Parts: sequence; C-alpha cells; structure tokens
Amino acid sequence: MSRPRVRFAPSPTGHLHVGGARTALFNWLFARKEDGTFVLRIEDTDRERSSDEMTRSILSALEWLGMEPDEGPFHQADGLERHQRDARRLLEAGAAYRCFCDVSEGADQEAFRGGCPGGCRELDEEDSAARARAEPYALRLAVPRSGETAWEDAVQGRVSFDNESIEDFVVLRSDGTPLYNMAVVSDDVEMEITHVIRGDDHVSNTPKQCLIYEALDEEQPTFAHVPMILGPDGKRLSKRHGAASVEAFRERGILPSAMVNFLALLGWSPGDDREIMDREELIEAFSLDRILTKSAVFDTDKLEWINGQYIAGSSAEELAGIVAPRLVEEGGVGHEELDGDRPRLLRVLEAVKDRPRTVDALLQQTRPFFADRIEYTDEAVERFWADPGEAADHLQALRGCFEEIDEWEPDTLEQELRALADERGVGAGTVIHPLRVALMGVAVSPGIFRVLELMEKERTLTRIDQAVERLEEMAATA
Ligand code: GLU
Repeated sequence: MSRPRVRFAPSPTGHLHVGGARTALFNWLFARKEDGTFVLRIEDTDRERSSDEMTRSILSALEWLGMEPDEGPFHQADGLERHQRDARRLLEAGAAYRCFCDVSEGADQEAFRGGCPGGCRELDEEDSAARARAEPYALRLAVPRSGETAWEDAVQGRVSFDNESIEDFVVLRSDGTPLYNMAVVSDDVEMEITHVIRGDDHVSNTPKQCLIYEALDEEQPTFAHVPMILGPDGKRLSKRHGAASVEAFRERGILPSAMVNFLALLGWSPGDDREIMDREELIEAFSLDRILTKSAVFDTDKLEWINGQYIAGSSAEELAGIVAPRLVEEGGVGHEELDGDRPRLLRVLEAVKDRPRTVDALLQQTRPFFADRIEYTDEAVERFWADPGEAADHLQALRGCFEEIDEWEPDTLEQELRALADERGVGAGTVIHPLRVALMGVAVSPGIFRVLELMEKERTLTRIDQAVERLEEMAATA
C-alpha cells in the first residue's frame, strides 16, 4: 500500500465521546501501522453549534490519549471558497443543475427523487442562466435515474443503494453555503484522503458522496464504516448511559493507555484472545479487515478491569506522577511533606498498586499513609466496627503494646499482635480487621503488617487514637 492518508473529522459541538475517540483511534492505528498520515479536520461549518472551547476540549482529549494529528487541525469552515468552487465544477460538468424551486431547508427533499418536480433539471443552460440573474437558486446533483451506487466497504463488504432511492440532493444552498456532503468530499479530495474510516451512521451519506466523487472525476477513497457502540441495554451509547465523554473517564481515574487498549477492543479484535495490548502491540496487530461487523457493547466493568491491569503494570514512579498532584490538590497532603517523603510514597505505591481498578481507588489506598486525618467508609464501619465498644477496647490494648516496640518491622509487629490476640482470647482477625479500618478507613488493603510498616510508628499511634476517639463517640450515641 502506498502511504495512506486518513482523517478524523469531529464536529466541535460537544466533548470527545467514546464513539468519536474510537473512530479517531482506528484512524490513528491504521496510519501508524501503514506508515501513513493522520489528519485532523474540525467540521465546524455549523457555526451555531460549534465552539472553540469544544475544539480545544477535543484536542486536549486526543493529546491525552496520545493520538496527536500529523497534520491539522484544519477547519472545514476555512474551505468555504473551495467548497463553492467544487460545487460550480459540478454545474459546469453538467452533473448538477440550478434549482429555482422552494429552496428553503424545510422543502420536502424526497419530492426530488428522480428529478425536480418543478422541471429545473430539464431547463436548458441558457434559460437556467437567464433565470439565475433574477432568482435565487440552489445547486442540486442530477442523480442518475436508474442503476445503483455501490462501493466495496473495507468493513461491511459491498454496499449498494438504488439510485432511484436517492433524491437530487442540494450541494450548494441559495445563500452560497455548501451542504455537508459537498464540503466533506471537497475536503477529502483536497487533503488527498485515501481511507475514510468512520461510524456506520454515515453509511447513508456515502452514496451521495460517491456520486459527487464521480461527478468531479476524482478518485474515491476506500470507505470503512465501523459499527456503532451500544450501551448495556442494547441502545446506542449516549449520555443516558452515564459518562460517555473521554474527559469524564479521565476525571474518574482511567489511565490513557488503558482507555486506548479498551477502545481498540470495541469493535476490533486482534484475531486471538489477547486483551491487554499496549500501543505498540495494537499498531502491530491492527488491520481494517479485523474490524467486526457486529456492534460492540460498552462494558464499564471491562474498562475498569483493563485499567486495573495497567495500574498494576505501571512502575511506582509512573504512578507517583499521577497520584502525587492529586494527593496535594484533593487529599489535603502538604506538598513539601510529600516531596520529602518521596521514597516512602514509592514504597506505598508499590505495595498498593495491584488491587485498585481506578486512579481514584489508588488514591484512596495511598492517601491514608500521608494525610493527617482519614475518613472511614460506611462499608468498612458496618463490617468491622459493628461493635464500637469492643473495637475501641482491642485497639487501645494494641496501642499500648505497639508503643513499646522499637523495632518497627513486620515480623515483630506480627508476633506482638498475635500474642496480644491470644492473651485476649480472640483470633488475630478480631484485632486486625478493626485495625485496618483505623489505619486505612476502608475494608481492604495490602497485608496489615506491611501497612503498619509503611504507616510507621508515630502515624500508626495517631491513627489508632483518632479511631478510638471516633469509636467512643459511636459507642456513646449507639
Ligand atoms: N463530522 C462527522 C461526525 O462528527 C464525521 C464526518 C466523516 O467522518 O466523514 O460524525
């Protein structure tokens, strides 16, 4: 294949959503795999619904995902004069005609199947040009009255439409603005796009675009229409299904590498059962013929599972880069204190990173090691502090024994805790569970003796004091 050129062409009318990001990714992967060029075109001809803010948001989401364009962003609105010129070329080639009928947007377009009911298609050039001096007109494509328009779709196989079902559609409005399909083809020709990879919601536009290519005598690109993404209820994924923008997943603590891995598997498969694939592996394995023809279902659980794999697979250094700023901004941890305690932050991250499936959860496991105070989740309290008086009692006894320990390391701590539990005639778990809540605020954590070691002595004693205080309040109000 000579070097392909592909484009991602979002309309800046909203944030980049999952479907758009997946389209961008398939284009990007294809370009990387085939040593091609990935172009970004902002389709902003709908001035009222487009905004610079959304353009910036889309760009920042692409950057976050690591899919920056090789060329662009280009703005479709900047191509207006060329769009008009190309529409005129259609008129000159005899493939389009001036239509003087009701040119308002609301006019029934289906009435134009098979030609113009007002006879505009049959006007000879002289009459048409004469009327054009006095009357407003639109340019319509003269769609062949029989036969079919077909293309070989790289995903869907051969797709065809009877020409009878396609109306003589407008390419240029009477106010001189191009219609969507006109602008897209004009741009794709100008940008020398070789492959159009996009959502299958555009299949119905494609025969019109094919007719324009033909009329302009330009080479048609290869089309690849990717099936839609569905929510768990089988309906097209939308805001109704909760977070659907890339921004929202980013805020929820999904890592970009995990998002990319997950998006790639939405409607594409490597052909084996691999699920965790980094960027390089995805590029290596990507091809259009492995895009599935069946709609993909968006499964948040799977996204989080993949994210968990990426968190576990990241180095403590990498995770520190993500977690440290958030500990300061949201976790109430002092900047300087955290910097000074960097080696411990790295050890903590190493200890906790295997379990969390989101950065939020990772933060929840990290924060207790650095914050002055912690919250206790309802779940943890219900499970392990159900009897606050008893929990307080065990913790106080434990505090007394911990205070005496000079050698603050896991083996010693374990021996002491087990001895204390024996002395009190309870199993070790009866002491460990309330202790975990006291130290971490949650019901799960790495092994308690590792937690104690990383928490260090002074902080452990403070945490126990804080917990006892809370437990006593709870006991008093029970
Ligand atoms: N602007 C269109 C959209 O956001 C994409 C058009 C295309 O890819 O041809 O759906």
